[in-house]
Amino acid sequence: MSPASPDRAAFRDFVARHRRFLLTTHINPDGDGLGSEAAMALWLAAQGKEARVLNDSVVPPAFAFLARHAPFESFEVEVAEQRFGAADALIVLDTSNRQRIGRLAPVIDRFPIPVAVVDHHVSHARGFGQVNVIEPEASATGEILYDLILEDGATITPEIAEALYVALMTDTGSFRYSNTDTHAHRMAAELLTHGLDPQRLHAQVHSHASAGRLRFFGEVLSALELRADGRLVVLEASPEHFQRHGLAGADTDGLVDLPRTIAGVEVVALFSEVEPGKVKVSLRSTGRVSIDQVCSRLGGGGHVHAAGVLLRGSRADARARVLPELEALIAALGPAGAERGGSAAATGARAGSR
Ligand code: AMP
Ligand code: MN
Ligand code: MN
Repeated sequence: MSPASPDRAAFRDFVARHRRFLLTTHINPDGDGLGSEAAMALWLAAQGKEARVLNDSVVPPAFAFLARHAPFESFEVEVAEQRFGAADALIVLDTSNRQRIGRLAPVIDRFPIPVAVVDHHVSHARGFGQVNVIEPEASATGEILYDLILEDGATITPEIAEALYVALMTDTGSFRYSNTDTHAHRMAAELLTHGLDPQRLHAQVHSHASAGRLRFFGEVLSALELRADGRLVVLEASPEHFQRHGLAGADTDGLVDLPRTIAGVEVVALFSEVEPGKVKVSLRSTGRVSIDQVCSRLGGGGHVHAAGVLLRGSRADARARVLPELEALIAALGPAGAERGGSAAATGARAGSR
C-alpha cells in the first residue's frame, strides 16, 4: 500500500486529532499484537500523547520483555471502565474482528470512543473502526506501523525497533512463511541498524516453554492422523491433554505448524478442545490450498494459509463441520504427488501466520 492510501492518511489524522489513547489487540496475543502495541505506545509517547495498553488476556511470559516500555494491563471490569473513561480514542491492532478483542468488545458499547483499526488479516476486511487501515499484503501489523512511522518522518528508536522486529519475526515464522518478501527483509535489515541483537530476541521469545508443553506436543503429535492420501494431517487435543501437562487451553501456539514439514502435506488441522464443549480449530496450508474461507464461513478468519475459528460443541462436531470441506479443497487439486507450492508462488499469493 502506498503512503498516499486514504486509509493511512485518515489514520494519521486520527492520531493528530486525539491525545489520550487506549491500545488493544486480539485475545491470546502474539508477538505481532504485543510488539505492535509497544511500538504504537512508544510512537505516541514520542509525540507527547498518552498511551495505555489494555488487552483481554495476560501477556505470555515469552513477550513480557515488551511490556517494560509500555503500560500493559489485562482485563478487569473496573480497570477497563477507568481506562475507557480516561481515553479519547481506541486503537485496535492486529485484528479487525470485534469479537477477537474479547471482553473489551462490550465495553466499547458503554464508552463509545472513536476507534481506529490497524490490521493485516484477510477476513472481516471492512473493520469496525471509524478508521481502518487493513492491508492483507503486509506480513505483520508491525510492518504497517513501520511504514506509518517512516512516512510520518518520526524516529525509529532502539525500543521501537525491538518491538517491530518481534512483530515481524514472529508473524513470518522467523522469516520462513510465504509472507516473507523483500519488504519484510528490508525492514528487518533496517531495524537491525538500531543495534538489535536478533539472536538474543529470538532466544527471548522461544525459550519459555515448559517441559509439560513439549510432552503435550509429543502426545498430540504421536496420535496424528493422515487423511486424503497423506495430504491432510489431523491433530486433536482434549481438555485431559491440557490438564495432564499443566497447560492452559490456549497454549497450543506452534503445534499446528509442525506437521507442515511432513512430505506431501497440503493442510494441517488442529482441533483443540480448550474447555469442554469449546473447540479451537487451527488450520495451516503448505501453500496450494486457501483455507481462510473455511474459517470465515464458520465465523472465524485469518490469512490465506493460516486461519482459525472457535466452535461450540464436541471435537467430533467440529471435525464434521471442517474436514469434508478441507478434503474437497484438497481433492480439487487433482491427484496426490503433483508438485507442491507452484500455484501459490505463481499467483503471488501471500500467506500470513497471524
Ligand atoms: P491460530 O491457528 O490461532 O494461530 O490462528 C491462525 C490465524 O487465524 C491467525 O491469523 C488468527 O488471527 C486467525 N484466527 C484464529 N482464530 C480466529 C477466530 N476465532 N476468528 C478470527 N480469526 C482467527
Ligand atoms: Mn496476531
Ligand atoms: Mn499479525
